[in-house]
Amino acid sequence: MIGTGILKGMAVTARNFVGSYFDEERLTTVQYPEERSPLPENYRNFPFLPYDGEDPHAGLRCVACKICEKECPPQCIYIVKSDDKKPDYMGKPQFYPKVFDIDISVCMSCQICVEVCPFEAIKMDKEFELSKRERFDQLLLRKEDLAKPNDYYHKICPTDATDVDAKLAAAAEAAAKKKAATAARAPAKD
Ligand code: SF4
Ligand code: SF4
Repeated sequence: MIGTGILKGMAVTARNFVGSYFDEERLTTVQYPEERSPLPENYRNFPFLPYDGEDPHAGLRCVACKICEKECPPQCIYIVKSDDKKPDYMGKPQFYPKVFDIDISVCMSCQICVEVCPFEAIKMDKEFELSKRERFDQLLLRKEDLAKPNDYYHKICPTDATDVDAKLAAAAEAAAKKKAATAARAPAKD
């Protein structure tokens, strides 16, 4: 009969509407911004740069290899490599980004920068309340805005952050063992 589908749909809506007064599970909306639904762990919007320890400069994992800048489809990453080097998490001297900007008004949240980074140095954030009056300066995020502690990464993505920590710790241990073995093989100096 014509219209049966509409009547069935209205019955479902009515059942859920009345039911939501008796069963909280049926409430699918919240009173934003006073109430917030928890975001799933794999939710993402724009990138950030995790750093280890307390110092964003010393702990920044990025070595300014520029792979993410080259691979970013809308070309919204801008990096200038440093002239000097600083030790990375394994104590190896590495370049670092003197400038690292991301224009988040252009970024399309594709996560390609994260996929291509060989150093676990860029990850996707969950911050979404970013509306601003001005595009330039307010939506162009600088290195200082993008750098966030590893503890923050653990808070927003505990599973991935724990995996990354284990991977970096294993790499650091392997490097330390290799260094010790090389030192043991080296001829003793008089
Ligand atoms: S998420 Fe995609 S668009 Fe945004 S900076 Fe990374 S690669 Fe570029
Ligand atoms: S974030 Fe990763 S890929 Fe991009 S420049 Fe830094 S180390 Fe290279």
